[in-house]
Amino acid sequence: MICELCKEKEANKKNTHYLTDSIIRTCLNLDGVNKRETGFYFDVSNNTPFVDFNFQRGTSIPKLEESLGREATEEEIGKAKDIPFSVDNVFCSQCEDIFTSIETPFIETILPQFRQSDLTGTNRIILPQNKTVKLFIYLQIWRTAICEVVYNLTEETMENLRLTIVNSNTIESCDIPNFPFHITYLETVGDEKAYTSNFVGCTSDRNPNIIFMNDFVIQFFENNNEIKTLEFYGLNQSNDLEQHINTDNEEVIIKVLPNQRRLDILGRINKEEKVQKSVSYFIGTFSKQWLLIFGGFPHPNLIQEYLQFITAGEFDILKYTQENIIEKTTEFIDSKLK
Ligand SMILES: [Zn+2]
Repeated sequence: MICELCKEKEANKKNTHYLTDSIIRTCLNLDGVNKRETGFYFDVSNNTPFVDFNFQRGTSIPKLEESLGREATEEEIGKAKDIPFSVDNVFCSQCEDIFTSIETPFIETILPQFRQSDLTGTNRIILPQNKTVKLFIYLQIWRTAICEVVYNLTEETMENLRLTIVNSNTIESCDIPNFPFHITYLETVGDEKAYTSNFVGCTSDRNPNIIFMNDFVIQFFENNNEIKTLEFYGLNQSNDLEQHINTDNEEVIIKVLPNQRRLDILGRINKEEKVQKSVSYFIGTFSKQWLLIFGGFPHPNLIQEYLQFITAGEFDILKYTQENIIEKTTEFIDSKLK
C-alpha cells in the first residue's frame, strides 16, 4: 500500500487517528479521562428518512447493552473495543510527522482559547492565525474523506487539499485554497466527563459535509454555490450561517454556541434518532394488525395517515408505551372500519 498523502512511500504507519486524537479523546472515554484509547464506542448509524447520520459516542459495554436492550454479541463488543477513528497502513511515518506539525500549533495555541476559557456571553471567536486553523481544519476534512467511506468529496477537491497538506510547511497563508467552511464550537461546561456526551462522526449526506469532533463541528462546502443552511437538529438554528462562513485568507471566525444549546442539539439528535426506531416499530405493529384483519398489507398512504394519527405530527413520540401504541393502533383501525 502506498501512502495516500505523499503517494510515494510505503504506508507503514499503524494507528493513525484521522480525527485529531487530542480533540476527540475526551469524548470517546467513558469518564472523559484524558488517557488514550481507553474508551468504547457504539456505532448507532441508521437509515433515517432525514439525514443519514453516522456517529459514534463513548459508552461502556453495560451501557451498550442497555442501549441494545439485550446482551451485546461478541462482534459488537469487538467493534466497541476497536480504536475509534484510526487506521492502519494508509499513511507513512514521514507523513504522520506532517500531520503532527499541523496539529501541534492548533492544540497549543488555539485549543486553550476554547477549552480553557470562560466563554459565557461569547458568540464568536475571531482567530488571526489563518494558516494554523485552516490547515488543521483541512487536515480533518481530507483525512476523513480518505478514511470514511461515507464521506465523499470530488477528486479535484481532494487533490487540492492533499497538495496543501503535503506542502504545509512552506505554503504561504495567502496561497491556501479557499474552500468555504463553517466551524461551530459547542461550549462544554463541567468536568471532563461532560465531553463524553458529545459526538464524534460525520454525516454521509453531502449537503453539506458535517463532521462532529467532540466540541467542534465542521461544515465544509466545496465551492460557494454549495453553501446552504441545513437546520440539522438545531445546529444552524439562528440562520446566520453565512456570517460565519470562512471564504478568505484573512482570519477565521468560529461560532460559539452556549452549553445549553449544545445540550439541546445533542438531546434532539438522541431523541429523533430514537424516534426513527420507534416509527419502524409502529409501522410493524400496524401492518401486522392490518394484515390479520384484511389479509393484505396497508397502502403506504394509509401508513402515513396512521403515523400522523399516532404522532400528531410531532417527533416527541417517546411518551407512548407499548400498550398505548397497540391501543391507538386499534383505535385507528376501528375508525377505518366504520
Ligand atoms: Zn507519505
